[in-house]
Amino acid sequence: MLIAQVIVELSLDRKFDYLIPDALKDSVHPGVRVIIPFGKSSREGCVLSVQQVDSYTGNFTLKAIISVKSNSPQLPEKLLQLGSWMADYYCCSYEQAVKALLPGAVRRSRSNNGKRRYTLGEQSLADDFIRQNDGKKSAAKRIAVLQLLNQQDDLTADEIELYCGAGSSVVKALLDLQLIKVSSIDPAKLRRQRHKVTVAPDKPRKPTPEQAAALQGICAMLDAADSEVRTGLLFGVTGSGKTEVYLQSIAHALELGKSAIVLVPEISLTPQTVRRFRARFGDLLAVLHSRLSDAERREEWQKIYSGTARIAIGARSALFAPMHDLGLIVVDEEHENSYKQAEAPRYSARDVAVMRGRIENAAVLLGSATPSLESYYNALNGKYKLWTLEHRAEDSPLPEVKVVDLALAKANAISNGEKTSTLFTPELITAVRERLNLHEQVILFLNRRGFARELACPEADCTFVAECPDCSKPYIYHKSRQMLTCGLCGRLAPAPARCPLCNADVLKTRGVGTERIEESAKRVFGSARIARMDSDTMRGADSHEITLEKFRRGELDILIGTQMIAKGLDFPNVTLVGVINADSGLNIPDVRSSERTFQLLTQVAGRAGRGDKHGQVIIQTFSPYNDVIRYAVAQDFPAFYEYDSAVRQILNYPPFGHLIALYARGENESEVQEVIQTVFDRAKQYCHESVIAVDPAPAPLARIKGKYRYVATFRGEKITSVRKALRHLVLHEIWKSSVDLYLDMDAQTLS
Ligand code: ADP
Ligand code: ZN
Repeated sequence: MLIAQVIVELSLDRKFDYLIPDALKDSVHPGVRVIIPFGKSSREGCVLSVQQVDSYTGNFTLKAIISVKSNSPQLPEKLLQLGSWMADYYCCSYEQAVKALLPGAVRRSRSNNGKRRYTLGEQSLADDFIRQNDGKKSAAKRIAVLQLLNQQDDLTADEIELYCGAGSSVVKALLDLQLIKVSSIDPAKLRRQRHKVTVAPDKPRKPTPEQAAALQGICAMLDAADSEVRTGLLFGVTGSGKTEVYLQSIAHALELGKSAIVLVPEISLTPQTVRRFRARFGDLLAVLHSRLSDAERREEWQKIYSGTARIAIGARSALFAPMHDLGLIVVDEEHENSYKQAEAPRYSARDVAVMRGRIENAAVLLGSATPSLESYYNALNGKYKLWTLEHRAEDSPLPEVKVVDLALAKANAISNGEKTSTLFTPELITAVRERLNLHEQVILFLNRRGFARELACPEADCTFVAECPDCSKPYIYHKSRQMLTCGLCGRLAPAPARCPLCNADVLKTRGVGTERIEESAKRVFGSARIARMDSDTMRGADSHEITLEKFRRGELDILIGTQMIAKGLDFPNVTLVGVINADSGLNIPDVRSSERTFQLLTQVAGRAGRGDKHGQVIIQTFSPYNDVIRYAVAQDFPAFYEYDSAVRQILNYPPFGHLIALYARGENESEVQEVIQTVFDRAKQYCHESVIAVDPAPAPLARIKGKYRYVATFRGEKITSVRKALRHLVLHEIWKSSVDLYLDMDAQTLS
């Protein structure tokens, strides 16, 4: 008889056996969705595998599959294999892993198209409403919806109900008050627009010698399907023509009759990026990004599934595109931490790409100007191939980078009797003015949004700091709105005018944010046209594109922003990039803070001088002699690698060992502590002697949304046995239902 192993959409981490009735013999395969009897009712499930057995020896009486969902697509078997691997390795349930393989839009036959979506209305109205009703019970639901929409672009009524229990009457009341509005993007209209865009076809460029060498190696890797090493790292400075190498490598894969996947970080998945691939490959390209409607996503998925599209480009989840004859996976900006998914399955798309390559016998090409330590380590050890592009493709020189010492600037200002401001040093002001006179453009970068990092009482004997009541972090202060927002849970609150503890009548701000930079820049560079881009100003679907398009057309002189503007933008008229304070990320007690600062500074600097005009970068810092900043200024990645890896090797951190983080969270702190300690003690018995296990302690974000958080870590090279033990303890043993436990395998950072 034929038996199918089926998983259902409950996170049970269990496969159930079902009999395949004769009538369904030809239609039940791995990957199809079936309806099965389950308990007293029936459920939908996914077939993982099919076995022929003589007799069934399981504990249960076998029930038979009821029917096959004929109109639902079938997951390719190799993808299912990848899913199983992910469930094991990333310690999530099989159901969660398989769910990640198939986009929700494709899984749900029902579409949420045509359903209205809601977004925040005029921000000042929402702020006023919260100011007037803060703390009132009668307005709690309405405020909850506003706070939710403050974090999400737009939501349907169902989603609003699901996340904050607010029904249609609350939505209607908010609409009547014009606090929210029906989202203006009409998916059908968007689709029509998108199809209208015609992209002029474009021909491959003649490769530079460095590109040619890389291409030769990559093509050889594509050709030699049986060779041992089929992953390569393309390490090329910003503007060195990595994208051109991707394009020509993909063309080669297509010649071999193979297909390709291109992963880019969500933030770089701009129309500009897509256009470059569209220009080369036309309709062979399918695009998967987060702003697609369900119908569009299904349409793109179908194009890939049916083989009409041979190349898929998209963010993290595009890795699971159901390609046939996969030949090449490109992971651009492979170092980006957005490739790590924050919810289960907590996978790293870069690492899973390498595994998918192995399962499908496809080549994998990782590209970056600032590779992750992990990938560079693998390249140096011969596990990956390595190609380097040291020169910019159009031979525009790399920008000249200058460091300005903020401490010195402050001292000078004081001795000159000036009112001290360390936002803009005289060097930066002069440089900006020069560029403005030449009608060139400037980017000013600071990786912190809002006006200030916190709002506090200036009185020496008062301890007041405005803090979210549910989270262990100060509120971000927004001056023009006179509001406070929580960076962790999105809570909004009116900013107090005086100190609520000691009644002092002025409060002081600490830590500068982009809003403050914008305010000062308007004062200092009076006539310049200035815009700010961060997650506060960029609400709504198109605001991003509109601002960038204005900047591109030269209708703006200065663009101020957070990391949103650090990546991938290519504006030939930008000749100056100013980093307001390079230190903000350095003092965080995290093993990756050096790496992140180095990457960010290098990426930001790469925005200058992309055209034929010479570019300049000014980095303001209180620590000009800091090693990380020095290496970033010298744009010397190998030296940085030597420096940072020496520290990591001593501590057993990646790339020298894996890092597993075990988290527990719950409303009752002592329960959280007790559960994590027990699990930790049990798991420790399975640790290889070389593994370092660090006892549970409050997590860096010790409380979010009223839940206490604890973390324990395990790091080392030989973690397989402890990983397996942890997986079992977390997924299959029963602890307290009031405590959530989860594992973050290869954690990027502890949070
Ligand atoms: P990266 O992806 O490394 O940042 P890009 O691929 O965006 O670099 O290339 C930077 C610029 O150089 C682009 O404008 C691109 O069109 C151009 N370019 C790339 N390769 C060549 C080449 N071989 N000949 C001429 N121009 C090139
Ligand atoms: Zn909060």
